[in-house]
Amino acid sequence: MDDLIFLVENMSDEFDVIVVGAGPAGYVAAIRAAQNGLKTLCLDNWTNYDGGTALGGTCLNAGCIPSKALLESSELYHRAREEFAVHGISTGEVAIDVAAMQKRKAGIVSQLTGGIAALFKANKVTAMQGTGCFLGGGKVEFTSHDGDKKTLSARHVVLATGSRPVELSAVPFDGETIVDSWGALEFDSVPPRLGVIGGGVIGLELGSVWSRLGSEVTVLEAMDDFLFMADRQVAKDAQRQFKRQGLDIRLGAMVKSANKGKKGVELTYEDKKGSQTVTVDKVVVAVGRHPYTDGLLGEGAGVEMDERGFIKVDDECRTTAPDVWAVGDVVRGPMLAHKGSEEGVMVADLIAGEVSEVNYDVIPSVIYTAPEIAWVGKTEEQATEAGVPYKVGTFSFAANGRAKGMEQAVGMVKMIVSAADDEILGVHIIGPMAGELIGEMVVAMEFSASAEDIQRIIHAHPTLSEAIHEAALAADGRAIHAINK
Ligand code: NAD
Repeated sequence: MDDLIFLVENMSDEFDVIVVGAGPAGYVAAIRAAQNGLKTLCLDNWTNYDGGTALGGTCLNAGCIPSKALLESSELYHRAREEFAVHGISTGEVAIDVAAMQKRKAGIVSQLTGGIAALFKANKVTAMQGTGCFLGGGKVEFTSHDGDKKTLSARHVVLATGSRPVELSAVPFDGETIVDSWGALEFDSVPPRLGVIGGGVIGLELGSVWSRLGSEVTVLEAMDDFLFMADRQVAKDAQRQFKRQGLDIRLGAMVKSANKGKKGVELTYEDKKGSQTVTVDKVVVAVGRHPYTDGLLGEGAGVEMDERGFIKVDDECRTTAPDVWAVGDVVRGPMLAHKGSEEGVMVADLIAGEVSEVNYDVIPSVIYTAPEIAWVGKTEEQATEAGVPYKVGTFSFAANGRAKGMEQAVGMVKMIVSAADDEILGVHIIGPMAGELIGEMVVAMEFSASAEDIQRIIHAHPTLSEAIHEAALAADGRAIHAINK
């Protein structure tokens, strides 16, 4: 990555825009700003385990991308062992080579992080590896990894420093047996017993990876409700399916301590029955993420934070300091790469004087388990709470020909529709390729589509998307391939 760092001595220190952070929010903001003709600098201090630097932040180096690589490998291994025989395919013994799996993952990560470097070059974004501190008055102090300092200035500053895993004081990370989500993506062998603290998105995705590869996985989740942010009906279905896959999910389990001994790590937790223990070989702590602002703001920055440590912003991502913007995980809203990227685009366009906005009501969520879980808009519970009269259409993948052919005929599509004007309020999918299918519903909701719009759109046969078509029909009791209630 060193060839990317344009030597500071050889360039002017004045920019139109300085972006601090090159994750999906920051690097996208920088590219769009440069596309808008603005002289743009992007600073980033990411350091990998091997000491190397890379663009792309958590998403590319330690989150979305490496986890999806391992989810795919582990799913294929699992299917080869458990499912191929049903198709009449015999393989002999199927084995997993964790080193090869990790090498493939690392290759994908380096291709994509290198891709950002190439995009920066092509768009004439200047990149510098090191830490940025916003001092106020358009000044940013840059400290290189070697400790050299330089003060740079810009008309606009965009803060995009992302988030870091929350550490539990009772279960501190040791980088070896008790790790965060990044550590759990780097295991060099399959832990026989894996404890996952937190049954959220990360806990379920990483728990699935290692469970498919042979770990006995115990998930300890503090809340009584499983996947509290998802639609209840979908969450229940998911819980049933994960249990069937062998994930031991213990709800209402508040972890109190971890003791390392010869037999492994003993986790003590409290649940309704009192104090319980489980002994595991490795522990992943996945209890959420904190906005990351350490050392980001100098005394004169004038950038206010909220009580939870997020940088305060308005709907257009303006901070409390003039011409200072903040985007991505470091500001309110879901910690999702695509939300951050769209905020980055919006801010870069607003700086260039264009009209731009993000529709926070239509942000898709995807959990990349098998089956996948995806949704957009309101859950049924949120519709009830809002007092909106609604109707519901559901359709099961068990009656979808493509899903049957894929040997993945589980789950359903659920559509929540306004009873007053037929507008789609929310769509929830658990099933094969849910994360891809939800795209149609994001487009539909962006255009304020009605259930009737979806009913009248031709969906190719045989495809998984027919389940969406049928769920829209079911909202009016007109599904063709199901008995309407
Ligand atoms: P999360 O908020 O999704 O889940 C954390 C879970 O930990 C919660 O269910 C919480 O109740 C539980 N918890 C908290 N303290 C606990 C304790 N002491 N004992 C037991 N359980 C406890 O957070 P995450 O899974 O760490 O993910 C962090 C962020 O990253 C989220 O905002 C998530 O949306 C995002 N992310 C998204 C994706 C994706 O889009 N597929 C993937 C990974 C991460």
